[in-house]
Amino acid sequence: MFGPAGIRARNTASDVKELYRIAQLRDALRGARREGRRVALVPTMGALHEGHLRLVDVARELAGEVVMSVFVNPRQFGEGEDFERYPRDPDADRRVAVQRGVDVLFAPTVEEMYPAPPSVEVVPGPLGARWEGALRPGHFTGVLTVVAKLFNIVEPDVAVFGQKDIQQATLVRAMVRDLNLPIAIEIGPTVREPDGLAMSSRNRYLSPEERRRALSLVRALQTVSNRWSEGERDSGRLATIGGTVLEEGEVLVDYLALVHPDTFEPVQEATDGTIVAVAGRVGATRLIDNIILGRA
Ligand code: AMP
Repeated sequence: MFGPAGIRARNTASDVKELYRIAQLRDALRGARREGRRVALVPTMGALHEGHLRLVDVARELAGEVVMSVFVNPRQFGEGEDFERYPRDPDADRRVAVQRGVDVLFAPTVEEMYPAPPSVEVVPGPLGARWEGALRPGHFTGVLTVVAKLFNIVEPDVAVFGQKDIQQATLVRAMVRDLNLPIAIEIGPTVREPDGLAMSSRNRYLSPEERRRALSLVRALQTVSNRWSEGERDSGRLATIGGTVLEEGEVLVDYLALVHPDTFEPVQEATDGTIVAVAGRVGATRLIDNIILGRA
């Protein structure tokens, strides 16, 4: 349909390119560029769900060639975290990515991405030291380094990230700005289950009972948002109100914080645009979620 590279804007299973090698990926994208198509990248760790796929829809609006990477990046998991048992389902991933119109699925091996331990990494400043960064030392260095590598491999015009991981998306934006990377960053909204739970590959770890308790994360955020809408502005009081909801759900809270959207520093007064971010453990599963006040 589009010439020798055989890459199409809308796909059937046989049209999609599923590539494992960096060199192949670069070759495949040469055709798209020659034909003047913009390239969008949606980086993921697979175990795809509707949240990932909505990012593909956003990418599709912005580019003629949509590349999805599926790579469970060992360098963003800390010791004792779930790298080994992180859900991997390449067949299902391929099926849903094809259905949703992904043009190129890039699924490199760990050896392909890290033939040797890196001597150079992308280390975030203070924005990466708080919250997720404090609880998961080295996590954001792992994330930013792999994202920078993917950016250099794919050379996308635009890359799409989810609000679900808002500190990560904000750090990627900061990296692009601070390192002058010629890539636009789009942030897609958090996709939720019908009852409000933010979709996550890790939700499949939850037992039915834990699944019910996990709902307190979104309930806490909604309660904070409602009280803010009713006029409460003191972030300490709002955090206490959210904390009570988490306690009721027996969530082991890592943090519930009201933070500035640019710096992730805590705010005294909650205003329009303040981020309410929450992280906690339900059983052995660690979950995160957030809302932006005034936008929820
Ligand atoms: P992951 O595979 O969990 O690393 O996520 C890959 C991308 O999908 C990241 O940009 C995430 O923020 C995004 N994402 C994950 N869950 C959701 C969700 N429920 N809604 C929107 N985006 C999401």
